[in-house]
Amino acid sequence: MTERLDGKVAVVTGAASGIGKAIATDFAQAGATVAVTDLNLAAAEAAAAEMTAAGGKAFGLVMDVTDEAAVDRAIDEVAAKHGSVDVLVSNAGIQIVNPIEQFTFRDWKKMLAVHLDGAFLTTRAAVRHMYAGGRGGAVIYIGSVHSHEASALKSAYVTAKHGLLGLARVLAKEGAAHDVRSYVVCPSYVRTPLVDKQIPEQARELGISEEEVVRDVMLGETVDGEFTTVEEIARTIRFLATFPGNAFTGQSFLVSHGWHIQ
Ligand code: NAD
Repeated sequence: MTERLDGKVAVVTGAASGIGKAIATDFAQAGATVAVTDLNLAAAEAAAAEMTAAGGKAFGLVMDVTDEAAVDRAIDEVAAKHGSVDVLVSNAGIQIVNPIEQFTFRDWKKMLAVHLDGAFLTTRAAVRHMYAGGRGGAVIYIGSVHSHEASALKSAYVTAKHGLLGLARVLAKEGAAHDVRSYVVCPSYVRTPLVDKQIPEQARELGISEEEVVRDVMLGETVDGEFTTVEEIARTIRFLATFPGNAFTGQSFLVSHGWHIQ
């Protein structure tokens, strides 16, 4: 890949695992200084240590994206220590599946807190530095095919992932004056711990086998029956993080093996 991030400072949320870890690893390989942030400090530090061992610049930082004070503190600390925040990847996410009539209000609020409050709070903290520093920047949200499609059992997730499109569109309009761009990257199913947990849950809820969940529910709508890979996501994100100017700002990008085609 030719797109480099030397001299750039990136914050990735939920970066101790899965997609976030792959993005952070790719950014570190591309020359960025990467804040590997997650709920769990030990896990974030372990992930950052792997990136450093491979020759990158990365450090672990605890940040619960639902905690306003913690988000402001962590992102202010990154900017103070490393001079700026140039790229934010809002990736932290959880999944809770249940039919609407059984969905508890507590779970609904938890889902919206992680996905939407988290996106808002980290965006606000990061753009304050991007605007003040005058270097511009990129904010990339990890949406989902479920930013554009619905599936049974996922009321809170689909609602939250659709909501990210709105936040990104507003940021595109507001951020342009400061050379800040926004994007939403929307994967289909990627084999991460988040998905591994859903396979038995969906099998139980839908009354089908785990093999049927994978083949029919998760991959049935793709053109090739394939999971999206973390490498495909990281490559898309790097392209967007390094793409100069406003040509694509505010848009979402499906990485879904043909599941949803815009
Ligand atoms: P994962 O479970 O492997 O990783 C998620 C990370 O987020 C974990 O390290 C977890 O500790 C962290 N996290 C959870 N709550 C947090 C909080 N409050 N504050 C900070 N960190 C928190 O999951 P993943 O599959 O890598 O998912 C990453 C993102 O990609 C999520 O937003 C998810 O919705 C999205 N996504 C995943 C898939 C998929 O198939 N895996 C598909 C589309 C979109």
